[in-house]
Amino acid sequence: MTEHATTIFGEMSRLAVEVGAINLGQGFPDTDGPDVLKNAANAAIRDGRGNQYPPVHGMPQLRRAIAEHLQRSYGLAVDPDTEVVVGTGASEVIQSALLALVDEGDEVVVLEPWFDIYAAGISLARGRRVGVRLVGPDLRPDLGALRAAVTDRTRLILLNSPHNPSGIVLTPAELAEIARIAIEADVLVLADEAYEHLWFDDHRHVPISTLPGMWERTVTVGSGGKTFSFTGWKVGWASGPADLIAAVRVVRQHLSYVSGGPFQLAMADGLALPDAYFDDFRADLAGKRDLLSAGLAELGLGVLRTQGTYFVTTDVRPLGYPDGLAFCRELPGRAGVVAIPVQVFCDDPSIGAPYVRWAFCKRPEVLREALGRLGQGLAEQ
Ligand SMILES: *Cc1c(COP(=O)(O)O)cnc(C)c1O
Repeated sequence: MTEHATTIFGEMSRLAVEVGAINLGQGFPDTDGPDVLKNAANAAIRDGRGNQYPPVHGMPQLRRAIAEHLQRSYGLAVDPDTEVVVGTGASEVIQSALLALVDEGDEVVVLEPWFDIYAAGISLARGRRVGVRLVGPDLRPDLGALRAAVTDRTRLILLNSPHNPSGIVLTPAELAEIARIAIEADVLVLADEAYEHLWFDDHRHVPISTLPGMWERTVTVGSGGKTFSFTGWKVGWASGPADLIAAVRVVRQHLSYVSGGPFQLAMADGLALPDAYFDDFRADLAGKRDLLSAGLAELGLGVLRTQGTYFVTTDVRPLGYPDGLAFCRELPGRAGVVAIPVQVFCDDPSIGAPYVRWAFCKRPEVLREALGRLGQGLAEQ
């Protein structure tokens, strides 16, 4: 199926390498996370901790750290033995949950545009995806459409907040309405919270699992790669009620079996870092968001205000382009910069057509260089 064939990131990253472009396409930081985590991983390797197959559902130190972190951050009481599973990145945990919970023909309601792996995961599970579009100039979810999309064929609602690619964070009122819909229809929620710590200003992230009646129907996914700026380490996890986590565990153990032991131990140390780490991390990224957003606005793009994630979304119509795909295909040659057209995250290309996604999780000098190149490239008609 076309969903599994290729990804836009491959195409754009290849283009970036070919012309030596600055890659603001793929969302990975160009600086590493905290040294304490590197030292912890190094020490674990040196001392022979985690160098052989770790326990299948995650090392107990990490499962305990995840539970303690959920308690500290959100007041959730989670049993590390039965209500947590560790995997090879949030990606594997999401795909395992879809394979475990979605049967052939089941519908999965998902905010559109969506993170690209969802389409592949739903299709691998032989489910049917039902998109609910983000609407209006601020790209908020159409909750009336969401209510209408949830039927007796719906198995689960796949939520993502902070949301990639749009950069929105769902508000408490939006979450409450989504929870009402899920409870009334008795459907599950798969909450991809890979960016749980990357929210800005007063757009504090609230896990939907903390709302009344939601813990028992929600699988919540976290990403150590995103939370600690080590996207190459590929450690992710899910938490939720024991019956749902047991189902995810059954599938996940047959995929990668385990994720790297020393990295799991380092992530456990990361989750125990004081609040100051998470505050500084947010502040640093907020500064980068402001730098790139202001520069793109100055170039004449319509810039949406990012509330969370690594990404800023822009509307290219003010520059005279009808379409983000055409804009992004031209951009490496014209300006030496790569960005991602939002329509590749949609079934209905008209939803994302005018929008382009830019990653700001890069060093300020890289963002400035990209803006300089864009200023020149876009000026030369
Ligand atoms: C990056 C990302 C993931 C995958 O996280 P990994 O831990 O790298 O597998 C999942 N969901 C969203 C929305 C992401 O942006």
